[in-house]
Amino acid sequence: MDLKPFISFSEYAIAELDEWNRQGGKIAGVYCIYAPNELIRAAGIVPVSLCGKKQTPIRDAEKDLPASFCPLIKSSYGYAVTDTCPFFGFSDFIIAETTCDGKKKMYELMKEIRPLHLMHLPHTQNSPAALEYWISGLRELEEFLYAQSGSKITESALKAEIRLQNEIRKELYDLMILAADRRSPLTAREILAVQESKSFSVYPETYLDQLRKLKSELEEYYTRTDLTEKKGVRILLTGCPVGKGSEKAVTIAEELGAHVVCMENCSGLKGLTLPVDEEGDPYEAIARRYLQVPCSCMTPNHGREESIRELAAVYEVDAIIDLTWIGCHTYNAESTTLGRFVEREMGLPFLHIETDYSESDAEQLRTRIEAFMELAE
Ligand code: SF4
Ligand code: SF4
Repeated sequence: MDLKPFISFSEYAIAELDEWNRQGGKIAGVYCIYAPNELIRAAGIVPVSLCGKKQTPIRDAEKDLPASFCPLIKSSYGYAVTDTCPFFGFSDFIIAETTCDGKKKMYELMKEIRPLHLMHLPHTQNSPAALEYWISGLRELEEFLYAQSGSKITESALKAEIRLQNEIRKELYDLMILAADRRSPLTAREILAVQESKSFSVYPETYLDQLRKLKSELEEYYTRTDLTEKKGVRILLTGCPVGKGSEKAVTIAEELGAHVVCMENCSGLKGLTLPVDEEGDPYEAIARRYLQVPCSCMTPNHGREESIRELAAVYEVDAIIDLTWIGCHTYNAESTTLGRFVEREMGLPFLHIETDYSESDAEQLRTRIEAFMELAE
């Protein structure tokens, strides 16, 4: 099975972005899955994820930001201010969003480093006024993209991007179900790499082909008759985004014999079951779809509970771990209601872990996850 394009996604992406940059192509740095890929790509711009996932730049970030901010914000800002992230280096401008308070205030500092467009996101999902506000926000983004790239977004380009991104979301979702098979040869960190690569693909068609190839390799693998089923507790991971560098809880759970078969967070499956409607006005369809992303910055955020209920059934999970970063008030607070929902409505064991990017609590985490595994068996 060829996992190299996924495991080494950063090296491939750096080479492709370098080439794209040399040809005069524009690159947008993004920090959130509310950033509408379809609109950005229809303007001929490549979006690339800049979310910081490593501890290293945090010390520099804390010179400007409160130490109590979440590590994702501090790591992201730290990379920008120290100019140590190649992806930030490639970004001509930033497309930011008003999700959590920490990010909003961090962006006020970041705009001194790079041109930055702030998308104003409503904090509720189901009112007509919220949708109208968000649609006008997308129109503002369109103007900004045009000013940056000089390319007008045409309806046909937008519809083509909608079809392509829908296809990618569907293919990735189906592949992840296959990868969660009890006979799967893939580890959680390999699955994480497949998911994470999505936000680093310069050419989405290539990523789609890679997903299809891996899917057919997995299907072929399962035709073998000598495979055994993995034992161990099947975990659904929810909460804050996790990636290469901030995956310590995933590593610990797997070392203890559990299988993290489903990652519901933004670095995983969040939003993959939400296609953009391919009929009608594409702007409104994009606005409707993105507004339904179930993030804790929304209130209420019942979509997250429903998504977890659906994914837990599809992935046949035994237990749920809610991983939140210290300083992330919205996900930390939401853990109380989510825990009640999981235990009372779904009848599954629930563990809330609040941690950061350092390794200082690794042993304590190991003890808690081990005790939880025994409970869930
Ligand atoms: S958790 Fe919320 S704010 Fe963070 S990337 Fe996801 S949607 Fe954006
Ligand atoms: S993890 Fe929480 S506090 Fe950190 S950027 Fe995301 S929503 Fe904001």
